[in-house]
Amino acid sequence: MTDSNTAPAFAEKGQPKDDVFKALMACKDDDLSSDGRAFAFTYDAGEELRDVAQQAFTACMGINALDPTVYPSARRLENEVVAASLQHLRAPEGACGTITAGGTESVLLAVKTARDYARKNRPEITAPEMLLPETGHASFHKAAHYYGVKVVAVDCHPETMKASVEDATAKLTPNTILVVGSAASYAHGVIDPITELAALAQQNECLMHVDGCIGAWVLPFQRELGVAQEAFDFTVPGVTSISMDLHKYAYAPKGCSVLLQRRRDLRDAQYYACAKWSGYAIVNSTTLGSKSVAALGAAWSLFRFLGREGYRHLAKQMWEATEQLCQAVESMDDLRVIGKPDMGLVALTTDEGDIFELADKLTEKGWHVQPTYKFGNSPAHIHLTIDPANSAHMGAFIEDLNKCLDGLGARQDPPSAVVMMLEALVATTDQGGEDVPAAALMDQLGIEDGQLPQSSALIHRVINAASPAVREKLLVLFIGELFS
Ligand SMILES: *Cc1c(COP(=O)(O)O)cnc(C)c1O
Repeated sequence: MTDSNTAPAFAEKGQPKDDVFKALMACKDDDLSSDGRAFAFTYDAGEELRDVAQQAFTACMGINALDPTVYPSARRLENEVVAASLQHLRAPEGACGTITAGGTESVLLAVKTARDYARKNRPEITAPEMLLPETGHASFHKAAHYYGVKVVAVDCHPETMKASVEDATAKLTPNTILVVGSAASYAHGVIDPITELAALAQQNECLMHVDGCIGAWVLPFQRELGVAQEAFDFTVPGVTSISMDLHKYAYAPKGCSVLLQRRRDLRDAQYYACAKWSGYAIVNSTTLGSKSVAALGAAWSLFRFLGREGYRHLAKQMWEATEQLCQAVESMDDLRVIGKPDMGLVALTTDEGDIFELADKLTEKGWHVQPTYKFGNSPAHIHLTIDPANSAHMGAFIEDLNKCLDGLGARQDPPSAVVMMLEALVATTDQGGEDVPAAALMDQLGIEDGQLPQSSALIHRVINAASPAVREKLLVLFIGELFS
């Protein structure tokens, strides 16, 4: 008899259904659990919402949004969720939107829109540029890479971590086609000065995208609760598009975001049509062809199930937990919050203590936090994404944070020999020389079979000390190893 857990995935003979599912469930044994102790990756609002999402997801599994004339349900679900999203962000008459597969796809399409809109309306521009705050999400760099738009980095204020309007103004050129601001930024949870950035864009015939991937859904509920915040939605003149992930704080399963455009001619620049082949003609609103509406169906169902009241209640829980944490950190020696978060995204840094050792200590106590490297004006820090499930555990987390700070060692530099070795190794690949011995490198860092060692402070210190270019090379190596 073969053990279903160790049987090959694809054998000559099929297995009984029960065995298949047992093996499938076993695959998830070591995954991050949604138990309220994870401050990253999960957007957990509890069992009941998971059930609603799961039922809807299964029910919509067979719908193919490739052709909304064959599947009218795809069109109805999309139109209704987009309409609700437009209303949520106070869009004017004539605004429209598209459901996408995630934040990255929404961002890619916002950049494609800007490029193709400029090609049509400002054809003299042959080397388009976008102004992107250094706190802007990595997906904008990816979009720039894919679509041939140059990123011009905008400085951020070292205290507030908000984009500097002065620097953006100084860096604007006749080639600028797009200005980006975040509401809020992932790392520090702060809203950029959207009003000023959008005015700058408008005065210079540029489009303005607000990256509301993580914040645009939850922030309006916080506003309704009386939490003061910068304006960032369509009521701000000059804002031409906003991205908003429904698979984050709207609690849909992964695979659902929305890109909203102020006008239809902007969305036309987002679309792609092709009739130049011998098969069916296409017009795609997103980067995908055949696509699932399962996650969209779940978002649609959650909107109905929770209503505005339900979402507002969840926003309140998260905001209270965020304030509780920020207040507690204020009274801790050596630990501080970077900037002043506008929502439940918190960056914690130390003045003297070793932040990566702190992350290890928290891991030992069963918390999942996100160690993050220094970049620009942002120091190395621990990032926390707070969801409703975390709220109930905030008291316990603060207690453990205090315990871990007690006796925390001073900040450590990585062994410089290791950093130099990495820089040198990675440089050789640039010259088309010998491949970096990836396996040996992983070995050096204590990474075994793709698993980080229990204590990963050393790895983080090394990567933090390396240049961003070397970090990128290392990540490619690491992921390549995982999938080999
Ligand atoms: C999550 C996020 C993105 C990218 O979204 P994915 O859904 O992970 O592709 C973009 N911008 C911000 C601010 C985000 O938080």
